[in-house]
Amino acid sequence: MNNSFVILAAGNSTRFKTKIPKQFNKINGIIMLEHSINIALKSKLFSSIVVVFNKSHKKYLKYLKINNVKLIEGGNDRQSSSLNSLKFLRKINPKYVFLHDAARPFFTVKLLKRIYKNIKKNNAVVPYVNLNDSAKIKNGKKILNYKRENFLITQTPQCFNYKLLYKLSIKNKSKITDESSLFINKNLKIKFIKGEFSNIKITNKNNILKNKTSTFYGIGFDIHRLVKYKKLYLGGIKIPFHSGLQGHSDGDVIIHCIIDSLLGAMRKNDIGTLYPSDKNKFKNIRSTKMMKPIIKNLEDNKYVINNLDINLICENPKVSKYRNKILNSLSRLLNVNKSVINLKGKTVEKLGLIGKEKAIACEAIVSIKKYE
Ligand code: ZN
Repeated sequence: MNNSFVILAAGNSTRFKTKIPKQFNKINGIIMLEHSINIALKSKLFSSIVVVFNKSHKKYLKYLKINNVKLIEGGNDRQSSSLNSLKFLRKINPKYVFLHDAARPFFTVKLLKRIYKNIKKNNAVVPYVNLNDSAKIKNGKKILNYKRENFLITQTPQCFNYKLLYKLSIKNKSKITDESSLFINKNLKIKFIKGEFSNIKITNKNNILKNKTSTFYGIGFDIHRLVKYKKLYLGGIKIPFHSGLQGHSDGDVIIHCIIDSLLGAMRKNDIGTLYPSDKNKFKNIRSTKMMKPIIKNLEDNKYVINNLDINLICENPKVSKYRNKILNSLSRLLNVNKSVINLKGKTVEKLGLIGKEKAIACEAIVSIKKYE
């Protein structure tokens, strides 16, 4: 399917009074811009996804968790950014191009599919909603009543025949606020379809900060004996060491500890209840596999991991050496940005079992948020 999805994210968001540019603020724990990328990916309608960014926002790009997305610099306004993306797409030459504003993170895969269905018989498809409020129109000094049914409030994504839109955009000299204006100016037909009321444009902080949230905390602790002839797994990665952790599973204390902290925060009992050690089917199970249903449960229940702090307690191996690797692994496993996880290494002054390198312990505390 040779369709492109372009996300216009080069705006300067002057109405949005935060230090971080609007499109890089988090909504429900995910960067606003990523919502659009994720929905486009989920639809499986696109062979290419393009994000048009503002060059003064370059430093924020590193926080995005994105793969298979092309990043290009935008222009001084929406119009020139959109033109940049259309020029960039020349080499890909998609059949249809969807243009979308990054400030609308709440559209659905369903809407994309309806747009796609309609574009096959049209050159332009634009979603709209009717006005909910009464409308008046100013005509000189006079204020007139206006039928709200006559107002179409247009949304994005808007979809176009790429070649036609490219031609119109290149030739256009007038100022436009969206691409459908190009079609309207030239009296070309647009297919208007029902948009989604939830697909609002976020213009100020209140739009996202009004989200009601509750926060929950969970604590986890685990300890395993070190034994010879076993591989050592910590945080989902294999670490070269003289011994490995004894246990029914691979003995990964970090993961067990995180599982218990997450179950605690969700008030769902503990790891032993979920994975009883007398059940043979869990024998030698990788702990990464044990984590998967926990994360699914978390996401299904609309929880988002806010913060996770881990103490790994051992004399050796030295955590600092593997810290980054473990954080990367946990970030993948928990499906969260690395920036919400912290890992500290603690030694015990060579005291006791841990001090004699006969055991490794771990403790963790997690905070999760639920969005209503
Ligand atoms: Zn354990």
